[in-house]
Amino acid sequence: MSPGAALADEEAEVYSRQIPLLGVEGQERLRRARAAVVGLGGLGSPISMYLAAAGVSLRLVDWDLVEPSNLNRQVLYSRADVGRPKAYAAAERLRALNPGVEVEPYYRPVVGRLALEVVRGVDLVLDAADNATVREAINEACVAEGVPHTYAAVDRWFGAYAFFARPGEDPCLACLFPQGLRDHPVHVIGPVPALVGAVSAADAIKFLSGAGEPTRGRMLIFDLREMSFESVTVSRNPECRVCARGEYRAIGEDPGRVFSRKDSHFFFEPSLRPLEALRRARELGWRPLEIRTEFARFDAAGAAVVTYSGGGAIVKGVDLAEAERLIEGLLEAQA
Ligand SMILES: [Zn+2]
Repeated sequence: MSPGAALADEEAEVYSRQIPLLGVEGQERLRRARAAVVGLGGLGSPISMYLAAAGVSLRLVDWDLVEPSNLNRQVLYSRADVGRPKAYAAAERLRALNPGVEVEPYYRPVVGRLALEVVRGVDLVLDAADNATVREAINEACVAEGVPHTYAAVDRWFGAYAFFARPGEDPCLACLFPQGLRDHPVHVIGPVPALVGAVSAADAIKFLSGAGEPTRGRMLIFDLREMSFESVTVSRNPECRVCARGEYRAIGEDPGRVFSRKDSHFFFEPSLRPLEALRRARELGWRPLEIRTEFARFDAAGAAVVTYSGGGAIVKGVDLAEAERLIEGLLEAQA
């Protein structure tokens, strides 16, 4: 038997419990599909794990590092991943789960026009973000590019889900929340994003395989404290700023030099690369924690610093002024 045939046999075995439901053609469609998962947290974990396991190739979008407080719900990661870039830790986990799919880590923050980069070239975008700014940029980018996308959100014991399968025909996120979204503090019980993530993944599998109609014109609301599950009708707002008037405000913006959120700071510095950083980090007395082709990770006297071979760096655990000082130190040495 040729290695190719052996692989095909093994794949048929791996997917044997779903092929009767999706059909061989449906499975083939999943194999050709590519989806972007935006946010690799509580929602992004089950979404990306079930999609990769089902045979869908993924773009994995998250710029942050794994924190201990993520572990009650972000089942992609283990204790050993704390401090590692989520996009790469997730890619490793998913490659181990299913070597038959392609995974493409995207480690930059989704700021302004970068949202367009994130949604281009995929068949579906799954919004699993944890903040309003990213969601608004992703919604605008999907409407502008005509990319189908889902919305999933959690807060405490509650979850919500909607699918915008046909941009321009279905409502968009701004139709549902014309006043904009609000950010919530992340207090959440792990099974809540597990449930909403599983719903997103199931809908994505139906949509990408053609095995069923995804949820349209409805928003699903889950309350796991009362164990109540509701479906409310949603419709397109004929005055919608985004999908009716095409007034985009998020995706026109330049990402700038640095993007900060809480104690995480991303520097869009194309000249910051792991190998150069490694040499200088030694001079600065930083402790190398992990040196890889794709990134290098250091302990800079308590602050976490990661430099990427694709350009850019993240500093975590200090305020912006201190992060700037650390990055200046690295750049000085490279000049
Ligand atoms: Zn709209």
